Amino acid sequence: MSVADLPRHKGQRNKLIKVLIEKGIRDQAVLKAINKIPRHAFVDSSFEDFAYQDKAFPISADQTISQPFTVAFQTMLLEIQKGDMVLEIGTGSGYQSAVLCELEAKVFSIERQKELFDVTSLLMRKLGYNLKMKFGDGFAGLPSFAPFDKIIVTCGAPMIPEKLLHQLKIGGRMVIPVGDGQQRMKLVVRNTKTDFEVKDYGDFKFVPMLSNKNVGS
Ligand code: SAH
Repeated sequence: MSVADLPRHKGQRNKLIKVLIEKGIRDQAVLKAINKIPRHAFVDSSFEDFAYQDKAFPISADQTISQPFTVAFQTMLLEIQKGDMVLEIGTGSGYQSAVLCELEAKVFSIERQKELFDVTSLLMRKLGYNLKMKFGDGFAGLPSFAPFDKIIVTCGAPMIPEKLLHQLKIGGRMVIPVGDGQQRMKLVVRNTKTDFEVKDYGDFKFVPMLSNKNVGS
């Protein structure tokens, strides 16, 4: 790995793991992935000292890297199996994608902000994470690679996008925060072609899921 990962970073990660366990995260595979990933490489250098606090931080293009608890919680709900085809909407910093890669999923991730797409594509290559990234609008999903075993949306969606439901395998799971301003975390399980079971996992706060690509200024 070409990003310096020092003993102090490892120490801070161990503390973060304890915090996540205290907050109720029990999924060992998820905890192990988080304990391996240099989160400090995914945040702006001015936040590096705080990278292992259980907090969200600003990244480029007015977006945020999700709080570790939120990343752990969403990933836990997905129940990732090795080799799962996973679609992520909202690549952002790439941290959530890295967690999915560590769990040996085949990761496809869409980002609508060109600036973030460019920066994160480079970072993921530098860190050795192999995933398919696309600059585009997540409302459309990725029909050319569908169906997916799992879909994770990491921005606040106004509703559950129909196109994403259609790209979920039967038996597949989608985790998506739904609502304006504040969101409710929803788990959608596709039981049959037409039967989608929805469960609610409480309040979370995300940046909004917006339509159309943004090439920036
Ligand atoms: N998973 C990210 C979270 C980033 S915040 C991480 O771990 O850092 C959510 C991201 O969703 C932002 O980068 C935002 O630009 C992106 N986003 C919002 N609406 C989108 C859409 N319609 N399609 C794709 N990405 C979108």
